[in-house]
Amino acid sequence: MPRHPLIGITGREDTSARLHAAPMHAVGVTYTHAIQQAGGTPCILPPTLTEEDWPVLIARLDGLLLSGGEDIAPTLYGETPQPWLGRVDETRDHAELGLVRLWVSTGKPLLAICRGHQVLNVALGGTLTQDILTEVPEALDHAYVPSRPMERIVHQVTIMPDSHLAKVLGRTTLEVNSAHHQAVIQPGTGLRVVAYAPDGINEATELVDHPFCISVQWHPEAMAKTSETMRSLFEAFVQHARGD
Ligand code: MN
Repeated sequence: MPRHPLIGITGREDTSARLHAAPMHAVGVTYTHAIQQAGGTPCILPPTLTEEDWPVLIARLDGLLLSGGEDIAPTLYGETPQPWLGRVDETRDHAELGLVRLWVSTGKPLLAICRGHQVLNVALGGTLTQDILTEVPEALDHAYVPSRPMERIVHQVTIMPDSHLAKVLGRTTLEVNSAHHQAVIQPGTGLRVVAYAPDGINEATELVDHPFCISVQWHPEAMAKTSETMRSLFEAFVQHARGD
């Protein structure tokens, strides 16, 4: 049986519990399921990690998956918060940005999704739009719609043919879901934009000269049950984490 690599998945604070005085640290089921389906062992990382935890995780985890969630505090990419900014969690920002900055230098595989795509970018000095509809009014509506199933296709993306992402997925066009109101504007140091929506919004980046560091703005984990192409992204990630 192949070795199951240990994959850390970043979690969020969840205050929706009936016992509202007892918040939880949580990760969406589709993330843990996609990792298990691909042959990895998922491990939920709390959003309260500090500099004391980062080296411990770097030594023990085989792969890091940055999950979706809140907006990143704009001060962390040099901007003033605007009224159209969503909810932020600065404790989580600190936990993830510090871990990611150390992680990328190890060469261990990283897969970043939605907020994670934005976290990777900000960790490497890039910038975001605080709200696509307000700041890029000519763009499509990429935002989350509560009544729409997460696996539902919203728009197409065009993938750069010479990218690692195109090689992993085996294609250069792809239909994706969309549940984000922010986007990467200026890519961070070493990041290459490798996929665009039809309106020009950046939908994926990868770290140049890294064995596996891919970030996507859509939610492949929510389509992994029904799409072999989306599963192939998790399979490639877990294979790298296994050292294959
Ligand atoms: Mn989108």
